[in-house]
Amino acid sequence: MNSNQIKTLDNQNVMQTYARFDVAVERGEGATVYSPEGKEYIDFTSGIGVNSIGYANKKWADAIYAQAMKLQHISNLYYSEPYTKLAEVLIKRTGMKNVFFANAGADANEGMIKLARKYSFDKHGKGKSTIICLNQSFHGRTITTLAATGQDVFHNYFFPFTEGFKHVEANDIKILENEITNDVCAILIEFIQGEGGVIPLDAEYVKAVADICKEKDLLLLADEVQTGVGRTGKLFAFEHYGVKPDVFSFAKGIAGGLPLGGIIANEKCSAVLTAGTHATTFGGNPVAAAAATEVLSQLDDDTLVEISKKGDYIEKEIKSWNLSCIKEVRGKGLMIGISLKNAVPRATAESCVNNGLLILTAGSDALRILPPLLITYEELDKGLKILKTTLEEIS
Ligand SMILES: *Cc1c(COP(=O)(O)O)cnc(C)c1O
Repeated sequence: MNSNQIKTLDNQNVMQTYARFDVAVERGEGATVYSPEGKEYIDFTSGIGVNSIGYANKKWADAIYAQAMKLQHISNLYYSEPYTKLAEVLIKRTGMKNVFFANAGADANEGMIKLARKYSFDKHGKGKSTIICLNQSFHGRTITTLAATGQDVFHNYFFPFTEGFKHVEANDIKILENEITNDVCAILIEFIQGEGGVIPLDAEYVKAVADICKEKDLLLLADEVQTGVGRTGKLFAFEHYGVKPDVFSFAKGIAGGLPLGGIIANEKCSAVLTAGTHATTFGGNPVAAAAATEVLSQLDDDTLVEISKKGDYIEKEIKSWNLSCIKEVRGKGLMIGISLKNAVPRATAESCVNNGLLILTAGSDALRILPPLLITYEELDKGLKILKTTLEEIS
């Protein structure tokens, strides 16, 4: 099919829930994708942080094929090797206690919210179930994770939303302290707010939040769906901050392009969810788990250091352009936001696409770069050149 045929079929048969860019993608290699007509695009999006080890990764595809031919799915009522191997690696590399496998980010966060509420219920009984979240956060599209999300644009149409969430301004510890009433059981943060605009939390703030959680016996929950799995140059972003959440969620990049998510808990929270209290049919699917184990083996410690270096390289390069349309470059590793002055991020991203670069937006004023973590410097340079040319046009 050519691009126009694909677009026509989409329009005719698919709910129009996505503001798609005017491009169809047929295949990819490394960090480069191609339209059916063979037009080349450098990919600074990796499918919103999903294709962590790039396109057409041979070992990853082999792992998937081998597992699909062996056992593609079996109910969680039975043991199987792939998810146990993956769990072992995750626990070894995070120093946490155990993991629950889900399918994606929103349902991982649902599990984390359930865990927090049950922890509180088991310990204190009813009435202590409120979770404090941050303004500008994003936690998913289910009714409950929308309620947790700290952006008013998401709190429409679908009433009634789940009760028991309140929101505070990030990076202000006094405001947070004032909101810690007797009904609060947990605090939920993203170390770097992704959808909200690539906004990193201050290190002192995170430390203070962790201290308050300890002192008041609140759970510290972290949504690492976007920041996790090497994206920021550490396996998980909490490692930058010297704090350890009680529970954190992951998804997006974990299986390199197959749907998989989950939550990882420390000792204290490891036995809260028990048989019958939480489950999901596909959780820890063997093919997704085999893919994830391969992703993690390719994201070894040396590769994580490389990710940080590439992030620094991008930031330095963009800053050196001295373009008047750029207000700020922020982020960590290969999660970078470029906030723009007097420019609409969406229109800028569209111009980038026309020029051969896929790039994301975030929040109200930023472009967002989330390339495959194994992107080469050659591809980075190609993409940065297109970005520079495009931004020069609007400067
Ligand atoms: C993408 C994202 C989610 C939602 O993940 P889905 O897989 O789309 O359900 C939740 N939290 C954060 C921080 C995300 O970036």
